Amino acid sequence: LEMKPVNLNQIISDFAGILRRLIGERIAIHLQLNPHLWPIMADAGQIEQVLLNLVINARDAIEGNGAITISTAPVRIDGNVPYHPASLAAGDYVTMQVQDTGCGIDPDILPRIFEPFFTTKPQGQGTGLGLATVFGIIKQHRGHIDVQSAPGHGTTFTIYLPALADTA
Ligand code: ADP
Ligand code: MG
Repeated sequence: LEMKPVNLNQIISDFAGILRRLIGERIAIHLQLNPHLWPIMADAGQIEQVLLNLVINARDAIEGNGAITISTAPVRIDGNVPYHPASLAAGDYVTMQVQDTGCGIDPDILPRIFEPFFTTKPQGQGTGLGLATVFGIIKQHRGHIDVQSAPGHGTTFTIYLPALADTA
């Protein structure tokens, strides 16, 4: 890992062109980047890998036309919020969401999607390693990943990465 202080918005906007070329005209990729992010400690190449895996899955989930929205936000978790994922300590985080208008994920399989080699794709089309890789990278960054999905409507992955001041 080559951890450096980086701005997540910069990584996303630098990589968006590659993602758009890869995904093609059928699916729009929208960026909603909050300008008030804290810097984070991250390996930019690994964050690109995360984006690539999530965006390819989103594309595979969208039949016909659709949209993928990549957004960022600063989030302060102080222990008083009504809900936050159990493994997140109080502190300042930067979140990155990848939201799609795809088929969604059946609640029966949702608990298994981060398992290595778990795939619902036909043989030869999915390795089942994309999300396991994403999970590993996020853990190496001391972050957290959540998924919310509405079958028939779409899926949102939310990644929390600790703000630089919290990792120093
Ligand atoms: P693969 O893409 O090779 O199947 P992944 O680990 O990337 O492996 O994903 C595992 C499974 O999770 C997929 O086969 C699919 O069933 C489900 N999945 C992942 N992302 C999405 C998404 N955005 N929309 C719907 N299903 C998804
Ligand atoms: Mg995949």
